[in-house]
Amino acid sequence: MTKPERYKHFVEYFSKQQPDAVTELHYGSPFQLLIAVILSAQCTDKRINQVTPALFERFPTPEILAASTSDEVFNYIRSVSYPNNKAKHLVGMAKMLVEVFNSEVPSDINDLQKMPGVGRKTANVIASVVFDAPAIAVDTHVFRVSNRIGLTTNARTPLAVEKQLVLFLPKDTLAIAHHWLILHGRYICIARSPKCETCPISWFCKYYERTHTETALLKAEALKLKKVKEQKKKNALNKISKELKKRSE
Ligand code: SF4
Repeated sequence: MTKPERYKHFVEYFSKQQPDAVTELHYGSPFQLLIAVILSAQCTDKRINQVTPALFERFPTPEILAASTSDEVFNYIRSVSYPNNKAKHLVGMAKMLVEVFNSEVPSDINDLQKMPGVGRKTANVIASVVFDAPAIAVDTHVFRVSNRIGLTTNARTPLAVEKQLVLFLPKDTLAIAHHWLILHGRYICIARSPKCETCPISWFCKYYERTHTETALLKAEALKLKKVKEQKKKNALNKISKELKKRSE
């Protein structure tokens, strides 16, 4: 199967099966989404959704968060990963929003990345989810699943994956493809043990094709060896029986 064919099947399948895929993070405004995405780095969306209601209630605006301290923010996010750093990032991000961006979340990916705690992945999420920009954020799920399916080739960094996805995916599917890949990676194409046997897209997955071809070849080889052994055993027994027969004559 060629790469363009794989992309075609990918877009057709998910457009039909998950036309409304969205982020599982809970938020009510671009500011809240920015906070949630910063917090979600190396943490689960489920955990983030547990801490954000109280956090959003205490810090409803960039001004209020900017006027706070990382120590106070820490108390609200202590159960997420890297709470110390993230608390500092949130306060720093809010300060910059207030001082540089007039308390509005910027739409430009470069502007977004100027803020503490905002890397390329977070910036792409905000740009695509909030501003409908033709961008795709590459997190660990997107990275792994794209490679496994065969949407990317020899892409060893998130940026390389992003570039290949942007090159091949139709522009109007970039934002939603991010969610398709994340959800597929979270529930089916799991890092340690992908559920290939029940995966609905195995028929166009490169990893599946390769691993199952290898397995089939190994099985065929084992069967061949078994038959050769059995034949040898049979021949040896025949020989012995012939000799015994000769001696008894
Ligand atoms: S067949 Fe397996 S490796 Fe391929 S996408 Fe499905 S779960 Fe992932």
